[in-house]
Amino acid sequence: MAYGDLDVLKGVSLTVKPGTVTCVIGPSGSGKSTLLRCLNRLVEPKGGDVLLDGASILAMKPEKLRRRVGMVFQQFNLFPDHTALENVMLSLTKVKGIPVPEAERIAEARLADVGLAARKHHRPGSLSGGQQQRVAIARALAMDPEVILFDEVTSALDPELVKGVLNLMADLGRRGMTMVVVTHEMGFARKVADQVIFMDEGRVIEAGTPAAIFDTPKSARLKHFLAEVL
Ligand code: ATP
Ligand code: MG
Repeated sequence: MAYGDLDVLKGVSLTVKPGTVTCVIGPSGSGKSTLLRCLNRLVEPKGGDVLLDGASILAMKPEKLRRRVGMVFQQFNLFPDHTALENVMLSLTKVKGIPVPEAERIAEARLADVGLAARKHHRPGSLSGGQQQRVAIARALAMDPEVILFDEVTSALDPELVKGVLNLMADLGRRGMTMVVVTHEMGFARKVADQVIFMDEGRVIEAGTPAAIFDTPKSARLKHFLAEVL
C-alpha cells in the first residue's frame, strides 16, 4: 500500500478468525490506520490481496464490501442535523433499501443495545462524545456486518467517557462480533483481544496472544514501545 511515492505497508500478512477480536497497536505513523483502511478499501493496496471469507475484496464493489465490513472512526462522522435514530436509520434505508418502518425497528433495537434508547430523538450536538460514539457503533451494528473495524474510537473522548465505550466494545467481542481494533488502550487490548498485532514502520513486527505480546515481547522494538506506553 502506498500514498504516492510513500510505501506505507510492507509485506503485512495477518489472519482474522470469525468471532475474534484483533487489536492493532504500534507507534504513531506505523501504518495502523492504513492497514484498517485497506480492509474496506478506503485505500487501495498497490499489491497483495485481502480475502474476506475466502474471496478477494478487490473483486467486490466497494459499496457491497462496506456492507459486510463496517467501520467506526475516531471522529464519529454522524450527520449533525439528524437525530440519533435517523443517523442509524439512514444507511439502512439509503444503502440497504430497507423500508422505513423496518429500518426504524432495527435502529431502535441497536440504539437500545448501546444503551441509548432514551436518547434516540437527540441530535449529535446534544449528546456527549461517548454517546455520539455509541450512536456510531449502533449505526455500524445496524448494518449487520461480518466484521467491524474500529480506528482509535476512544481517542477523541474525554477520559471519563472512554470506559463506557470500551466496555461496550468488550461486550460486542464477548457476543462474538468479529472486530479489528486499532487502539492505544493497552488495558483493553490485554483484556479483550484474542490476537494482538504490533506494527512499526509499516510492518507487522510481532503478532500473538495478549500474554505473548505484553508479558513476553521478543523484539527490541516492541519492548521499547511497551516501555513508552505502559
Ligand atoms: P496514528 O497512531 O498517528 O494514527 P497510524 O499508525 O494510524 O498512526 P497511518 O495513518 O496509517 O499511521 O500512517 C502511516 C504512514 O502513512 C505515515 O507515514 C503517514 O504520514 C502516511 N500517510 C497517512 N495517510 C496519508 C495520506 N492520506 N497521504 C499521504 N501519506 C499518508
Ligand atoms: Mg491512525
